[in-house]
Amino acid sequence: MTHDIHIIGGGLAGSEAAWQLAEAGFKVRLSEMRGSGEATPAHQSDDLAELVCSNSFRSDDAEANAVGLLHQEMRALGSLILREADKHRVPAGSALAVDREGYAAGVTAALDSHPNVNLVRERVDALPDGPAIVATGPLTATALAQGIGAATGAEALAFFDALAPIVHRDSIDMDIAWFASRWDKGETKDYINCPMTKDEYLAFHTGLVTGETTPFKDWEKDTPYFEGCMPIEVMAERGVDTLRYGPMKPVGLDDPRTGRWPHAVVQLRQDNASGTLWNIVGFQTKLKHAEQVRLFRTIPGLQNAEFARLGGLHRNTFIRSPELLDPTLRLKSRPNLRFAGQITGCEGYIESAGIGLMAGRFAAAELAGRTLSPPPVETALGALLGHITGGAEVETYQPMNVNFGLFPPIPGRTKKADRKRMYTDRGRAALAAWMAA
Ligand SMILES: Cc1cc2nc3c(=O)[nH]c(=O)nc-3n(C[C@H](O)[C@H](O)[C@H](O)COP(=O)(O)OP(=O)(O)OC[C@H]3O[C@@H](n4cnc5c(N)ncnc54)[C@H](O)[C@@H]3O)c2cc1C
Repeated sequence: MTHDIHIIGGGLAGSEAAWQLAEAGFKVRLSEMRGSGEATPAHQSDDLAELVCSNSFRSDDAEANAVGLLHQEMRALGSLILREADKHRVPAGSALAVDREGYAAGVTAALDSHPNVNLVRERVDALPDGPAIVATGPLTATALAQGIGAATGAEALAFFDALAPIVHRDSIDMDIAWFASRWDKGETKDYINCPMTKDEYLAFHTGLVTGETTPFKDWEKDTPYFEGCMPIEVMAERGVDTLRYGPMKPVGLDDPRTGRWPHAVVQLRQDNASGTLWNIVGFQTKLKHAEQVRLFRTIPGLQNAEFARLGGLHRNTFIRSPELLDPTLRLKSRPNLRFAGQITGCEGYIESAGIGLMAGRFAAAELAGRTLSPPPVETALGALLGHITGGAEVETYQPMNVNFGLFPPIPGRTKKADRKRMYTDRGRAALAAWMAA
């Protein structure tokens, strides 16, 4: 079968993109290397869209959760991943969890039997010249990764992530924290600074070195990133004052409440253009998530912190999308290529499938000679897409889950529960208007 478009990678994103294009009437060549004698270190089967770890697509609450809203939007747009997940759902409270084998078999059968899909079990080693979607995920095979590096610039392709926690701006106590840059002369006040006394610092240091961490998987252990992006707890183990000479350095930061430099300072830097999200500088960590929440809330000013993302370090492959991709996921330097899924720097099964869905729809519109504008930023799909393709800070770009911090803020002061409802109501109305248009 000749094809209109080539999709490389039959994971969450590639499968969803293939479905959207095939349903729109376009011939798709879907290349998946598993099943051709190739493997990744994480996948266990040859099924498409395999869930490599948890069997959960997380919250299905479309009233109060950004992930649930994303599910709802994808259902409205005819998602294959959601169709099969719903069909193979297992009890999991308000989460959408699935019988992983039934679900993946369902996705595979739907695509394999679709008259517009040519599923080819092959490893692709070079970027195609014709229209294509690259959806090879966090474990992209080496030769293709080198080709992507050549097309995007080696520095724009990462082989691991180093996630520092991200905090919602409105949960930071600015009666304790203050805006300033180091040696601030009043012109730039780019950082939010949280001061620590000696006792607070020593207790925090003890918490770091005794905290329980998530171990590296065997195949991650040799990833050559450890020195460059050292976890904060490893830095802390090197000596009680190592952090005070590193990311928690207090010099040049006058606390306005005392007029003096604190014993140590935790700095947060803006993480998205709208200023709703702030990352804790240098705090990439392997500490378990519950441990991170407990410990980081002992930082003065962050005692009520709400986290949009917690820290982590993993083997990963992703490009610096905010500078490389246009708003419809095309590589600016080679617009016949789109990227989709985790390789764009989104994080998670459902986010990857959502970006795959949009890549498929954008490509289908283009093949039909139409232009599809991205969904509004008030929707979950639009907020995530907007972050990836320009809203995120380029220099500190790291993988991101969907969360309300990516949405334009709701004006005025409202109770947290009401605010979540306002986000989702606004998102539903925006998606309906976009679909109608
Ligand atoms: C170990 C691990 C655990 C994870 N756990 C979770 C979790 O519990 N929950 C969660 O939400 N997210 C989790 N993630 C993240 C999750 O994997 C991704 O979010 C999701 O699978 C990404 O979807 P994707 O389609 O971008 O990539 P994938 O689903 O990985 O699909 C990419 C596909 O491309 C194929 N491929 C790669 N290179 C080539 C090539 N050159 N030619 C042809 N085919 C190729 C691969 O075989 C794969 O099938 C985990 C990731 C990893 C690595």
